Amino acid sequence: MSAAHPASLEADKLRMSQLQDLLTLGFRWMKFPAGLEHQFLSQDPQQRLRHFIISGLISLLVYDGFLVADYLLIPDVFSIAVRLRLLIFTPIALVALVVLWVGRDKPLMQHPVLLDSAVLVSGLFAAATLAYALSITHSPLSDFYHAGFAVVVMYGNLVQRLRFWSALGFSLAVLAIQVVGVVVLPNFNPRLVLPICSLTAATVAFSLCANYVMERDKRRRYLLSERERALVKDLREVNLKLQELSRVDVLTALFNRRHFQEYLQDLWQRAKHGGTEVVIIMMDVDHFKPYNDHHGHPAGDECLRQVASVMHNSLRQPGDMVARYGGEEFIAVLPNTSLALAMQAAERLRKAVQDMAMPHETSPTLPVVTVSLGVACCNAATPGATPDGLISKADRALYEAKHQGRNRVCSL
Ligand code: GH3
Ligand code: MG
Ligand code: MG
Repeated sequence: MSAAHPASLEADKLRMSQLQDLLTLGFRWMKFPAGLEHQFLSQDPQQRLRHFIISGLISLLVYDGFLVADYLLIPDVFSIAVRLRLLIFTPIALVALVVLWVGRDKPLMQHPVLLDSAVLVSGLFAAATLAYALSITHSPLSDFYHAGFAVVVMYGNLVQRLRFWSALGFSLAVLAIQVVGVVVLPNFNPRLVLPICSLTAATVAFSLCANYVMERDKRRRYLLSERERALVKDLREVNLKLQELSRVDVLTALFNRRHFQEYLQDLWQRAKHGGTEVVIIMMDVDHFKPYNDHHGHPAGDECLRQVASVMHNSLRQPGDMVARYGGEEFIAVLPNTSLALAMQAAERLRKAVQDMAMPHETSPTLPVVTVSLGVACCNAATPGATPDGLISKADRALYEAKHQGRNRVCSL
């Protein structure tokens, strides 16, 4: 039986209370305590990578689709736009996506910082190329093209769902590229500075709000699933413990009668199938009532523990099983053995108990604790033979040992 280690139980308890606190009190600054944060970031790396690649391919199509806008809004630099989009950005992005996909099983490729960096680099590159095209065009329609910066912000914050703090940094960087790269240039219409910048700033604010809520929900879902996992683990451990308790005798730590009977049924079926012998040994402490009366109940309990330990240590062949059958009665089943060998084992047991030399001043047999044993053997394949029949036979043999004067082994 595998009892959980106390240190691991303590750790489980701490983790459970940490999860509970985070769920009820919330988490500050969109961050968990260090260990949990690391686990959160490392969860489902394959799924994150797949999301990045699929979103990346869709975003690349959208990015190249903007060639239509380039053609319509900034036709004088269209050839530069084609080169930037199709000859520089697209091949680099495709190679990066293929490399990520091919190496998806490698820990480096699954590192959360790598994917965030890839989103940041690709988004900032898109913003920078747009800023460059807008800074060199003389097209009167180019001012409409500033909406492109809002699209880049949405790519990082909503499509690729950068983590909140990265999303904030990314948004400010895109805003800075727009302002520094285009808006502050001398040929930019000053009347448009405020409306255009506020358009991008509003997109930044709204997409950051959405990004924040998505990440907060994702973190809460993670906490809930971890708490559920911890609860299931607890439940499983309690269940195992209960099963263990329901099979074990509290006083002697031997198996109890119920478990013995289940075990014997199984063993009997196997022995019946294989046509082999099954032996039962029943053992009873002699004159135990006077022992209790004279030495007291606690001493009686200790005596039972000692006898149980002798029995447990003496019968250790594979398949042997010892149990406490009742008050001061013990039972053992020995598979695949002959009556002669079982008699020897029983005699060893009798002698081992006597050799413990536990004083029993009121015993008419000997001044030490002794036991009587009954042994019964039968081939499980014998027609009409049953486990209960074999136990009764061993019980009759035990009765015979008592009858003949105790501290002896009898068989039937
Ligand atoms: P015999 O030699 O014929 O077996 O005589 P006995 O006195 O051992 O048999 P009897 O059945 O009269 O008494 C059994 C005693 O075992 C009675 C009961 O108080 C005691 N006993 C049963 N269970 C426990 C236990 O868990 N702890 C203690 N201390 N005594 C127990
Ligand atoms: Mg008895
Ligand atoms: Mg007895």
